[in-house]
Amino acid sequence: MTRTSVLLVMTISLIMFIHPCIIKAQDNALTKEKIQAALDEAYAKFKDVKEGKNADYIKELATVDPKIFGIAVVTADGQVITKGDIDSKVSIQSVSKVFTMAQDIEELGHQAIQDKIGVDATGEVFNSIVAIERMRGKEINPLVNPGAIAATSLVAGKDSAVKWKHIVDVQSAFAGRQLSLNMPVYISEAGDNLRNQAIAHLLLAYGRMYFDPVQATDIYTKQCALNVNAKDLATMAGTLANGGVNPLTKKKVVSQETVLYTLPVMATAGLYDDSGIWYYNSGLPAKSGVGGGLLAVCPGKFGIAVVSPPLDAAGNSVKAQLVIKYVVEKLKVNPFLIQPK
Ligand code: GLN
Repeated sequence: MTRTSVLLVMTISLIMFIHPCIIKAQDNALTKEKIQAALDEAYAKFKDVKEGKNADYIKELATVDPKIFGIAVVTADGQVITKGDIDSKVSIQSVSKVFTMAQDIEELGHQAIQDKIGVDATGEVFNSIVAIERMRGKEINPLVNPGAIAATSLVAGKDSAVKWKHIVDVQSAFAGRQLSLNMPVYISEAGDNLRNQAIAHLLLAYGRMYFDPVQATDIYTKQCALNVNAKDLATMAGTLANGGVNPLTKKKVVSQETVLYTLPVMATAGLYDDSGIWYYNSGLPAKSGVGGGLLAVCPGKFGIAVVSPPLDAAGNSVKAQLVIKYVVEKLKVNPFLIQPK
């Protein structure tokens, strides 16, 4: 055999060996079309679900249109795929807790958050006072109200106005656009948040509140009243999925290390006392809010979010949970779905 024919035979066998791998890789590729098809199917399948009820302990939330239903995915490489109503905005509520926690981790380091707030799930409802009392102010978790108000109190800034601006700037950087306040929701909750104020004062009594409790509760209430749509939430999740760099603006919002410590808290406490059930069924770190928003992070791949106000008994959007679980299964992106070698 000549040298050329030997080379030719080697090249052909190499191609024959690699070919099935190429096909397989293409099969598993997460194309825009595949994601769109999954969103379309999920939308059609769940749009008529009637279960759940808007939150009404914040009076303004009861007046939000329960039919708002929007789904968005923002991939780590910056593609945006949507279905349904992505124009209607709802208040971000508890979803904001993730990004204030991330802001604290970024500014103070992950150990400080573990020491000053705690990162274990309380296993109690999101505004539990029992959880604070049981642990004497420790292990209160930044993704439920006590830990979240403490997290807000830790944000850098000499006064309330500076802290607030800092929070809006960070939440906006995650969303990739300037977020603004839903004034009616803020006023409605601020006039009726004695329970959160009690939580903040109880933490102060245990030495676990790091700013004036009344002002910290007020900033926290404003933070929860920022207006977002499904695409904003998906971009926020997409930024975490992309290691802290916003996939749309390409700006670094937080470090890779901050994301490393943010996602596990979402995995263990993102859906209040139903966090375990959620994680068991989806494998994705996620966070819900009583405004009807729910976002989930598929690390390295995409952020997904759904806005649909009717909630289940634990305070999580009914349709959002159904949609995200469906899409995760359909696209086979549960990180625990492991292909044996
Ligand atoms: N602002 C709301 C509260 O403090 C947020 C609760 C939530 O979304 N679970 O009650």
